[in-house]
Amino acid sequence: MSISNCKQCHRLYIRQQSFYCDSCRQTQDRHFMEVRQFLRTNPNSTVLDIHQQTGIPIAKLLEMRKDDFVPFRR
Ligand SMILES: [Zn+2]
Repeated sequence: MSISNCKQCHRLYIRQQSFYCDSCRQTQDRHFMEVRQFLRTNPNSTVLDIHQQTGIPIAKLLEMRKDDFVPFRR
């Protein structure tokens, strides 16, 4: 067990597997589910498409891709 800064809100939290604190992880999970859901029906979407349809900020989407969460196209 170690203390770490949340990657999103920079608050200190007790680090387990996630880079995020609990509340940010919940938001992250929700975004992740939304994007997954969206990509299931729109497999060839770009970041911009996803942003426009889900309202999730582009920076957030790029971060998710960087973290290897979501395999969408450029
Ligand atoms: Zn956080």
